[in-house]
Amino acid sequence: GIVLGIESSCDETAAALVTTDRRIVAQRIASQDESHAPYGGVVPEIAARAHAERLAPMVEAVMDDAGVTLAELDAIAATAGPGLIGGVMVGLVSAKALAMAGDVPLIAVNHLEGHALSPRLADPDLEFPYALLLVSGGHCQILRVEGVGRYRRFATTIDDALGEAFDKTAKILGLGFPGGPAVERLALEGNPNAVPLPRPLAGSAEPHFSFAGLKSAVLRAKESGRHGDADLAASFQQAALDCVLDRLRVALDAMGPVPALVVAGGVAANKVIRHTLERVATGRDMRFVAPPMALCTDNAAMIAWAGCERLGQSDPLDIAARPRWPLDPEAEPVRGAGY
Ligand code: ATP
Ligand code: MG
Ligand code: FE
Repeated sequence: GIVLGIESSCDETAAALVTTDRRIVAQRIASQDESHAPYGGVVPEIAARAHAERLAPMVEAVMDDAGVTLAELDAIAATAGPGLIGGVMVGLVSAKALAMAGDVPLIAVNHLEGHALSPRLADPDLEFPYALLLVSGGHCQILRVEGVGRYRRFATTIDDALGEAFDKTAKILGLGFPGGPAVERLALEGNPNAVPLPRPLAGSAEPHFSFAGLKSAVLRAKESGRHGDADLAASFQQAALDCVLDRLRVALDAMGPVPALVVAGGVAANKVIRHTLERVATGRDMRFVAPPMALCTDNAAMIAWAGCERLGQSDPLDIAARPRWPLDPEAEPVRGAGY
C-alpha cells in the first residue's frame, strides 16, 4: 500500500509518500524558520498563511516525483492535531479535498502518534511494546507504547517541554530560533560543569518533568555576567540531560520490563542526548532505537507512516481539527500542563 502524508501543525509544511513496506518514495519539506526568527518563536498567523501558500504545490510535487495519481493512493493521512489550529486546519482541509477528489480514505492522524510511531518506520524490527521518551517543542512525555492507538503515559511536564527549554535558553543566549541545534553546537565549546544550575524535580518519586526553573536559572546566570555563553549552553544541556536521566529512571522502574527504549520528537535529534540514552538502554539490557535526524523534527513521512499503520481506517470528511489531543486520554492531568 501507499499513503500520502500531510503535516502542518507547527512551522514545517510537509508532504510525503510512504509505502507500507517502509519506503519513503517522495518527500518535500519547507521550514518557516526565517519567517518566525525575527519574533523568536512561531507566530500562528504567519504559520497558517505560509502553509496555505505552500502545501498544494508541495503535494503536487511529491505526486509528480513518484509518478503516482490520487486514485492510486490507499489513503491520505493528515495531522488533525494537536498543534496550532490554523495550520492544522489548512492541512486537514487540503487532505479532505484530495480524499474527496480521488475517492480515497482520509486518515486523521494525531501528530504525537506520528512522532511515537516514527521509530517503527526507521526500524522494521521494533515491535510493541516499547518505552518511549517523546521530547519535542511542545511535549515532554514518557509513554509505554502498547500498539497503534494504545499509549500509557507515565510522565509529562508540569510546565515547559524539553524543546521549549532549549528554545528559551537559545533566546537568552541570543542564538536565534529554533534554538535546539544552536545550543547543542555552542555546548560543544563549553564546560558542562562550569555553571551551577538546578535539576528540577530530581529525586522526586513521580516521574514528571519540570524545566521552567532551569530556564530561569540560566537567565539569572546570564545576567550575572560571570559566565561565558558556551559554558552556559553546555551547563544547561548537562542539567537538562541529568533531569531526563533521573525522570526516565523513575518511569522505567514503574513501567516494568520492556524490550526497547525509544526516543522520538525534535529533541531526539540531539546527539549528546541520543548517546546518553543509548548507554541507559544498554545498562538496562534494552534495545535502543532512535529515528534518523530528519525523522525526529516535524516531517510528513512520519504522518504518512502513521497512516500506513492505520490503513483500513476511514475518517468522516467532516472530522474536526483538534488543538489538544492527548495520546493517553486516561492519564491524570498534572499541574500546569493540560496533559
Ligand atoms: P510538538 O511535536 O510537541 O507539537 P513541535 O512539532 O514544534 O512540537 P518538533 O518539530 O518535534 O516540535 O521539535 C522541535 C523542537 O526540537 C524545538 O524545540 C527544537 O529546539 C528542538 N530541537 C531540534 N533539534 C534539537 C537538538 N539538536 N537539540 C535539542 N533540541 C532540538
Ligand atoms: Mg519547526
Ligand atoms: Fe512535532
